[in-house]
Amino acid sequence: MPDQRLRPSFVNARPLALVLFGPPGSGKGTQSKLLMKEFGIPQISTGDMLRSHVRSGNALGAAVEAKMKAGVLVKDDVVNRLVEERLKQPDCERGFILDGYPRTRTQAEALCSLLIARGFDYVVVHLLVDYNVIIARLTGRRQCPVCGTLYNAISRPPKVPGVCDVEGAQLIVREDDREAVVRERLDAYQNQTRPLIEYFKEKGRSLFEIDASHDPPEAVFRKIEGLLQKQ
Ligand code: ADP
Repeated sequence: MPDQRLRPSFVNARPLALVLFGPPGSGKGTQSKLLMKEFGIPQISTGDMLRSHVRSGNALGAAVEAKMKAGVLVKDDVVNRLVEERLKQPDCERGFILDGYPRTRTQAEALCSLLIARGFDYVVVHLLVDYNVIIARLTGRRQCPVCGTLYNAISRPPKVPGVCDVEGAQLIVREDDREAVVRERLDAYQNQTRPLIEYFKEKGRSLFEIDASHDPPEAVFRKIEGLLQKQ
């Protein structure tokens, strides 16, 4: 029963949206999955949602594919609509984890209106990671094309080199993990996303910074969990 694993912040108080904030490669996806398991609330990753549209070959996927391959941001109204629809699903009622959204001021404003309208509170956890660590992580990253699990040659190698532990599929380098594209993604983060920290401060939101450069994922997770228990 997922409810038994919920912390008080997710059952007694207003439902809570947890915004995981940080550059590409800061571990948002990894932390989201750990939090999802622990708290029984869904991970909402706009990157995963967009990639699944690209894979399915529909019109939305076709419209965003080139931008994603180039490492630049997809249009705000496209992601805002995706998130708005996703938040209507019943599994989001008690709370959810936002991974990779919002990424621009327009997205942050859209999210705020949505959350206010639905009586949600939110906290922002900012994962801080050194630039060189990010480059090493992203360029060493491999992904299973079937289940999406991420591996890293150094920090999280698969049991058999080049093969997914879960699916047995050959791992691939995500198109946007190539070095030139990684730099483009980091520029987008620096110019469009990082300034949102000021926005969250202006709004007076709970904003926590966590050093996530060197600690293993479980240690970072425990720090986030500690913060949430105080909410
Ligand atoms: P990362 O954060 O590791 O770069 P994501 O999987 O979150 O990777 O995103 C991959 C790509 O999907 C981004 O480079 C961008 O093109 C697109 N994308 C994902 N989320 C958003 C968003 N909130 N706004 C605009 N584009 C997005």
